[in-house]
Amino acid sequence: MAWEENIHKVVPYVPGEQPVGTNIIKLNTNENPYPPAPGVADALRGIADEYDLMRRYPDPDARDLTKALADYYGIEDEQVFVGVGSDDVLAMSFLTFFDSDKPLLFPDITYSFYEVWAKLFRIPNKRIPLRDDFTIDPDAYLIPNGGIVIANPNAPTSLALDLDSIEKIVSGNPDSVVIIDEAYIDFGGESALPLIDRYDNLLVVQTFSKSRSMAGARIGMAFGSAKLISYLKDVKFSINSYTMSRDAIRIGTAAASLADENYFKEVTDRILKTREEAAGRLTEMGFDVAHSATNFLFVTHPDMKASDIYSALKEKNIYVRYFNLPRIDDHLRITIGTPEEMEELYKALQEVMK
Ligand SMILES: *Cc1c(COP(=O)(O)O)cnc(C)c1O
Repeated sequence: MAWEENIHKVVPYVPGEQPVGTNIIKLNTNENPYPPAPGVADALRGIADEYDLMRRYPDPDARDLTKALADYYGIEDEQVFVGVGSDDVLAMSFLTFFDSDKPLLFPDITYSFYEVWAKLFRIPNKRIPLRDDFTIDPDAYLIPNGGIVIANPNAPTSLALDLDSIEKIVSGNPDSVVIIDEAYIDFGGESALPLIDRYDNLLVVQTFSKSRSMAGARIGMAFGSAKLISYLKDVKFSINSYTMSRDAIRIGTAAASLADENYFKEVTDRILKTREEAAGRLTEMGFDVAHSATNFLFVTHPDMKASDIYSALKEKNIYVRYFNLPRIDDHLRITIGTPEEMEELYKALQEVMK
């Protein structure tokens, strides 16, 4: 068809499977195995009471949520941007900050959405190889570029980069915007947030989806200099004024409030404890387990192909993530579930690996 020639054809990002049905152990999309904070349930009930407000547009600036986040992190409201999950925040950021003829830099093994957005927005890009041990080499980012995006801790490798190395990349690239995607920062990494006051080219992106157990609410945020944030808002308001629903703003505000801080810490600690147990158990089974700073483990086994383990586990209704990609096609990414779910995983693995 002639009209097809005018279509912007893209290869989309493929999210992890969301199988329907019960009796499934879902360790494939890094969701939190525990419910969100109790304050979120109260906020949800509040929504039902005020259902009449649904006829009104939500606050285009999501001021309640922006303010709650600014208070929580001890920064100014003008340093905060919010969106429909960090995927939305990141996509807006790519569109805003990466408009150079020079290439956008990101690791060859990282969140695969980066390449999808770069292609969608026709941003020239260059993938910087991770070292053989899958760590990021900060010096490799000190080359001419039109921007940098790094997930820290990185996914799916689970490895964290220290703050000095992050600062080296940011300070070494004063002519580019550097985005640090901190989707997993609450599970062990060191946040670059304190650097935003010193480097106006740094954007730190976080999400409620992982550590705050709210993947279904779609809430993400970016922190940066007031100038960076205002450019980001200009692009957002050029696409859709009302990205965040009234409901999302309300429950996000509740979740960001300090009252729920203890619950959040407790859940995160529990996951870290299960993670360390899991690393030990999988190592005993002969897996090579990367040193995780996230809520998942990145593993490989010398005796059995990752793709075979993935399929065998799926037969047993246990879903983990397998990426058929260069360098990592013999690895699995396993989300940390509850201790009970992990016991089921060990049992299944023992049967599978016999
Ligand atoms: C999960 C994830 C995101 C996106 O999460 P949202 O649910 O859109 O907030 C972004 N970056 C990385 C590295 C992730 O793993």
